[in-house]
Amino acid sequence: MLKLCVDIGGTKTIVGVVNEHSEIIDQKRFQTFTSDPQQQFSEIIEIAHQFTQHYEQLDKSILNIAMPGPCDYRKGIFLNPPNLQAYNQFDAGQYIEMNSDFQPNFVNDTDAAIISEYQHIKDETDNFIYITISTGVGMAYVKDGLLVSGVDGNFGEVGHTIIKGNSDYLCPVCQQYGCVENEISGTAMSRKASDLLQRDVSTREAIDMYMKRENQAITEMIDEVLTLTQQLCTNLISIFNTYHIVLGGGVTQSKLPYSEKIIDYAKAHHLIKDVPLKVKVSDLEANVLTGLYYINE
Ligand SMILES: [Zn+2]
Repeated sequence: MLKLCVDIGGTKTIVGVVNEHSEIIDQKRFQTFTSDPQQQFSEIIEIAHQFTQHYEQLDKSILNIAMPGPCDYRKGIFLNPPNLQAYNQFDAGQYIEMNSDFQPNFVNDTDAAIISEYQHIKDETDNFIYITISTGVGMAYVKDGLLVSGVDGNFGEVGHTIIKGNSDYLCPVCQQYGCVENEISGTAMSRKASDLLQRDVSTREAIDMYMKRENQAITEMIDEVLTLTQQLCTNLISIFNTYHIVLGGGVTQSKLPYSEKIIDYAKAHHLIKDVPLKVKVSDLEANVLTGLYYINE
């Protein structure tokens, strides 16, 4: 059996065909239409429709879609997504049902990712948290082998909780100073580096400069980002009483030494010493897309 799965990200969208072994049989990627949700979902429907004509074993009725939160996942309505502000209140469920024969299922993107990760580390643990750091920051939690998704599917929206008490950056979405997403995400690193150097600096360039220790101000800025990330992870280890973390998202795939730093900090500051802490960066390709295979099983 093959399923149609869609991963909507803040910058790119993937429409794919996934099989029961978490393999991506086919996929098309495009730049997310960040200012036009109707164009976005027309494109998704069009690509999905093309796949239905090419794959005999494809379940042609179902379209599983991962959306950046927060959302009403039951209906498919975006609720103030930080990195897709033009989508606020857009009813994707209604749009898909009016413009296609697909039956859409919606899920939080980090929830889809952790389901995929769990398929790969089942032998090691049934209790772990997944933290994604890319355009935004999110988390998900598997407890005793089951996904914990909260009362309405919006569990783990840590991006707009406060991590830096003395920040002078006011978040335009949550209207607070020092929220996680604006302090430690890839977008935050790019913004801070651009401010420091008074020109556009991408996340990748800022990380490259940090790894080569090219600029003192950039080194100090990313050192602080890493410290805040270490503190966030130690907070989560204490709150969820779990000793296993999987990191995902584009920024964690960089050369930044996330795993070592997080373990060092937790060992120094977590109250229980010598816990068997494991932190690993995901080695799965497109874990959101492949996790979607399992959401309506
Ligand atoms: Zn915020």
